[in-house]
Amino acid sequence: MASFDYPPTMYAWRKHKGNSSPVWEEVPVPDTPPEGLLIKLLASGVCHSDQPLLDVEDRPNFNEKYILGHEGCGEIINIGSRVKDVRFKLGHRVALLAVPGCGLDNCSECSRDLPQLCADGVHHGIGQDGFYAQYVAVDIRAAIPLPSGIPPGVAAVATDAVTTAYHGITRRAEVKKDETVFLFGLGGLGFNALQIVRAIGARVIVSDLRQEKLDSALKIGVPATDIVPIGKSVQDFIQESGLRGKIDTVLEFVGKHQTFQDAQKIVRPGGKILCVGTLDRTNELDMKMGIRKRLSIIFTYGGQYQDIVEVLDLIANGVISPQVEMGRLQDFPEVLKVLGEGNIKDRIALVFDTEEA
Ligand SMILES: [Zn+2]
Ligand SMILES: [Zn+2]
Repeated sequence: MASFDYPPTMYAWRKHKGNSSPVWEEVPVPDTPPEGLLIKLLASGVCHSDQPLLDVEDRPNFNEKYILGHEGCGEIINIGSRVKDVRFKLGHRVALLAVPGCGLDNCSECSRDLPQLCADGVHHGIGQDGFYAQYVAVDIRAAIPLPSGIPPGVAAVATDAVTTAYHGITRRAEVKKDETVFLFGLGGLGFNALQIVRAIGARVIVSDLRQEKLDSALKIGVPATDIVPIGKSVQDFIQESGLRGKIDTVLEFVGKHQTFQDAQKIVRPGGKILCVGTLDRTNELDMKMGIRKRLSIIFTYGGQYQDIVEVLDLIANGVISPQVEMGRLQDFPEVLKVLGEGNIKDRIALVFDTEEA
């Protein structure tokens, strides 16, 4: 099959073992895998976890040098010789799944529909080559055809920040339309969670320490009476709003001692707590209360191919609109610094600036 033209080398940001600063360097454009695609990247989302990835050393399956970036979207420029899937055509755009799993039937994770936990499959941008580059080679299990009308930056960010929230809410906590949900945290993931819960049709009460986040919630239609005012105790708010014993599910997108304690107190008997945020590394569980209330404490991690398909569909239909700024790939270290300082409003995606190659 014909391919589009591409150069023999490209620029990329790589993590070198022993160095916590990313290195901008010229590397070969990867070969097209027989079962996969060569992708020209159109956007790569910057994630808070890029910094810990730069800091970690000695993790199993991490290459000595690898290209960072685990939220990607690009254009197909070459198709592997054994790819029969007609959904993939030259010039078409795809969103990229960073951790597609090995896909083997005898894999204990992939065979149970848990590819995000598979240790054997590729981990793009997490120890193996990812998306802060001009090109990337992927297996077709990592490529999701992009519905028309979705900008590459939005698609890239959707694969991580939106999909993690979506997977947790729909497949783990299984939030349903007739539920009342309490959401802690309206940050990068939490604000997407808010839109997903509203799309499901459940009532959602929100809490955040930042007034501008609460204002944004109000702006997209959360009634003022369902927003916990800053400075108000969550437990008092629940009591005074007549919501005691009525919170079916708590979405914990913060994970601090206070919020996790509040979560256990406010959730109804038989209710669920979905754990996503990890601002405090360890939290306390009141065993007696958990047992008496017969609580389900649920953890979630990442998302899967089908989650991204559904998320892109929701975005294409205007149900969720992730906010994304665009920047230059060349500026990644500065962008990461600004993100770490909390000075990027939502998410940011980068693209290689050819003017300055
Ligand atoms: Zn991430
Ligand atoms: Zn596997």
